[in-house]
Amino acid sequence: MSIESKLTASAGALRRYEHLYINGEWVAPIDGELVESVDPAIGKPWAVVPMGGVKDIDRAVAAARQALNGPWRRTPGHERAALLRRFAELFSAAIPDLANLESRDSGGLVRDLRASLAAQVQWYQWFASLADKAQGRTIPIDESAHAFTTRVPVGVVGAIVPWNVPLLTTCLKIGPALAAGCTVVLKPAEQTPVTALELARLAHEAGFPAGVFNVVPGYGKSAGAHLVAHPDVNKISFTGEGRTAKQMLRDGADNLKRFTFELGGKAPHIIFADADFDNAINAATASSWRLCGQSCALGSRVLVERPIYERAVEAFRERAKAVRVGMPFDEATRLGPQAHEQQLTKTLSYVELGRQEGAELVTGGHRILKPELASGYFVEPTVFAGVTNTMRIAREEIFGPVASLIPFDGEEEAIAIANDTPYGLTAGLWTRDVGRALRVSNRIEAGIVWVNTYSFLRWSTPYGGFKASGWGRENGIDALDPFLENRTTVISTTGQFPDQYAS
Ligand code: NAD
Repeated sequence: MSIESKLTASAGALRRYEHLYINGEWVAPIDGELVESVDPAIGKPWAVVPMGGVKDIDRAVAAARQALNGPWRRTPGHERAALLRRFAELFSAAIPDLANLESRDSGGLVRDLRASLAAQVQWYQWFASLADKAQGRTIPIDESAHAFTTRVPVGVVGAIVPWNVPLLTTCLKIGPALAAGCTVVLKPAEQTPVTALELARLAHEAGFPAGVFNVVPGYGKSAGAHLVAHPDVNKISFTGEGRTAKQMLRDGADNLKRFTFELGGKAPHIIFADADFDNAINAATASSWRLCGQSCALGSRVLVERPIYERAVEAFRERAKAVRVGMPFDEATRLGPQAHEQQLTKTLSYVELGRQEGAELVTGGHRILKPELASGYFVEPTVFAGVTNTMRIAREEIFGPVASLIPFDGEEEAIAIANDTPYGLTAGLWTRDVGRALRVSNRIEAGIVWVNTYSFLRWSTPYGGFKASGWGRENGIDALDPFLENRTTVISTTGQFPDQYAS
């Protein structure tokens, strides 16, 4: 039965997922449980999902290890590419269903998800295109030896992803890991496990051999921590909070685990007085409220040059009034709910904190209690003015639709404020002066700087953070690097090795 027809058949009832995907089979959790997953737009359960335990992680890791040591190790890059391309085709055909399911799990807008998933098809195709290009080098030595390097898969990869954009963060890990010839155990976030299980269905249909791709939803502190500490897992590719990453370093220390981290952000979005004002405001409002503020890459720390500061505050106030808040499946909706109740509580607590810190609440800041939205986790688009960079609302990730407008005078102050943050993931900058664009962007401590645009991401553009925003990069021509080891082979041309101990 297709996903769509199952959706129809289960309308009104809870959608049920009772099995984990391990070693090419659907299996019940051994030491896990079945729990209800809540739809954040209605604040009620919509699905039953399995949460695997440590024994389930053990099973999945054993399957991944066995697959790695089996025929997968000998599967050439072009065959791995063909499998990924087939997977991308199946993923493409499933976009309408995946968009609906991810929306119910995470509260994301269906229209935005459809667009994101269409881009993810290109992402998978890009990773497929890299699968047979992990080339080594020939190293010139002298007549006595020939040396070369070979790129080999790092081994079993644990992919651990968050709840805010589950399918995208998953794509950026499993795509390059499988292209590189690794095997994978995917642990989605406990709040959003459904689409990971749907990906398992697609991978199975695409024909990935048993054990190459395994999916075990589970809690971070049990299943996740066990995956990180597991001696038979070579690498963890993680997207989530910095605090979690630090715990992972401790848990993985005993076996010197390799890590890639995509962590938080508090991006500066700098608008100079000479900028194209309307386009800058379009970008700054979108990057404050999009995804209900639940993205590490958003530019909600809006730095505005003083001559246009009051005008920008007014523009934000006007735009906030125009935002259509509503149900995620409604095509007219531009702002949906927060992904779960704790996040709603967190956002509202930061609004209160901003007030206490002395920022001016220009608009918003409340939970929306209109009858049709009251049971969901909806919050108004919110704007704070008079924010200083020492306030906690300017320093910490809120993950709600909250813009903080900070005035500045001149380039030097803009750069100083922009870099005065523990994070360094993304940044935006608006100016018509090309020299200034180059001067300022060169000095911003961030993994990606957008000039006269924002959130412009492609499979070909490397992505990742400076400072506390992470370790390593995803995407780009080098996307497979974090999933490869370099082996150097040296061959003597003579085979002579004199006895070192002859007298
Ligand atoms: P989180 O760190 O709490 O959880 C992320 C994942 O880690 C979940 O699957 C969770 O179950 C698991 N986990 C939690 N504790 C664990 C442990 N001790 N061992 C192993 N796994 C564990 O983060 P979150 O609240 O789900 O996600 C929000 C965070 O993710 C934000 O900080 C956001 O900025 C960040 N994020 C970063 C990027 C990026 O690309 N840089 C993208 C999206 C989200």
